Amino acid sequence: MTTEVGDPYLAEVERTDPQIYRLIKAEEQYQVDSIRLIPSENYTSRAVMEATGSVLANKYSEGYPGKRYYEGQRNVDALETLVQERAKGLFGVGHANVQPYSGSPANLAVYYALLEPGDKIMGLALPHGGHLTHGWGVSATGRFWTSVRYEVDPKTHLIDYDRVRAIAKAERPKIIVAGATAYPRLYDFATFGEIAKGAGAYFLADISHISGLIVAGVHPDPAPYADAIMTTTHKTLRGPRGAMILCKQEHAEAIDKAVFPALQGGPHENTIAGIGVALREAATPDFRAYGRQVVANAKVLAAELRERGFDLVTGGTDNHLILIDLTGKKVIGKKAAKALDRAGIVGNYNTIPFDPRKPFSPSGLRIGTPSVTTRGMKEEEMRRIARWMDEVVAHVDDGDALDRIAAEVRDFCRGFPAPGMHVV
Ligand SMILES: *Cc1c(COP(=O)(O)O)cnc(C)c1O
Repeated sequence: MTTEVGDPYLAEVERTDPQIYRLIKAEEQYQVDSIRLIPSENYTSRAVMEATGSVLANKYSEGYPGKRYYEGQRNVDALETLVQERAKGLFGVGHANVQPYSGSPANLAVYYALLEPGDKIMGLALPHGGHLTHGWGVSATGRFWTSVRYEVDPKTHLIDYDRVRAIAKAERPKIIVAGATAYPRLYDFATFGEIAKGAGAYFLADISHISGLIVAGVHPDPAPYADAIMTTTHKTLRGPRGAMILCKQEHAEAIDKAVFPALQGGPHENTIAGIGVALREAATPDFRAYGRQVVANAKVLAAELRERGFDLVTGGTDNHLILIDLTGKKVIGKKAAKALDRAGIVGNYNTIPFDPRKPFSPSGLRIGTPSVTTRGMKEEEMRRIARWMDEVVAHVDDGDALDRIAAEVRDFCRGFPAPGMHVV
């Protein structure tokens, strides 16, 4: 049952474009009714959504504060400067560029700024949790630059820093990237920085997944060691879809020129306003408590799953993310992810390190706790979620069981209102 509580925010969409309105509302209901475990997703606050949907979307402001190519920037300059200052303060860096449209173009901008075409990018291999934009072949970053990969250890599935050091020494990359989309442990940024320095390479920390945890003080901070830090703003940081590049002052000019005019035109000042709101929220004690709870929840969820016979890559988690190896459960990742979604629990299939199966149908399932923690769920709820997940994986072909669980999940979710929603 849906209880509409009125949505002034979408009243005009409803009046003028019922088709789009219905789809937005259906998605809203879906986000309310399901346990969202995709570790790169979250729920932003209504304040972030309002700023993102504001009149700032009407602006064109190519350039940077005080150096624009358009008139009419009296408010926009002040806004972008304020957001830059918040980013610098929160992450403790000398320079912040808040204009990148998203994480992928932001990484491209870092390479464009610091490398020559053909230089070597050394990143974690994609099947081991790395991101496409860390030099993988199907990405433009693997086409215009030369890719050098490091992998996780075959036994522990942890980053082997001695191996990373040896590869860096032998290959002499121009940049070393730390960061991943499916690594459930902490990064030793100090060691990455020291390895990069020893190899004469720049060090890029791609903290897209974990920037909220770093701000909350529950993950080591790369700022003292990295030449550049890139983060998306929509994952654990809980802002709008976008990205930031944070860097040492010595790279500021090159980074700024790479973002504009090399790769982008007009910045999305509405998104930048939303980032500003999110950064202010992230500077509060509430957000620190949120980050601690994200990790506490992930640890409990991991332990409960392990108790139910799930194999976890690296045996558990230190952050917001859990990578499940389903080989022992005799279910493939895709099938499990589909059954879970039908039951109202949303994760994604994923490769696991040294996966014997193909990337489009791998053995793993990737889940995480940022969204459920935003809804106020705690350890007790993680136990409940683990029980449902176990039930689903044991009944992937039983539609009736999955639909029954979906109804239970909907009921359960009602007790945890999601921020920014107008349905309950
Ligand atoms: C999400 C992510 C990106 C890319 O961000 P998009 O906004 O999806 O382009 C880059 N690097 C890492 C490690 C990520 O997790």
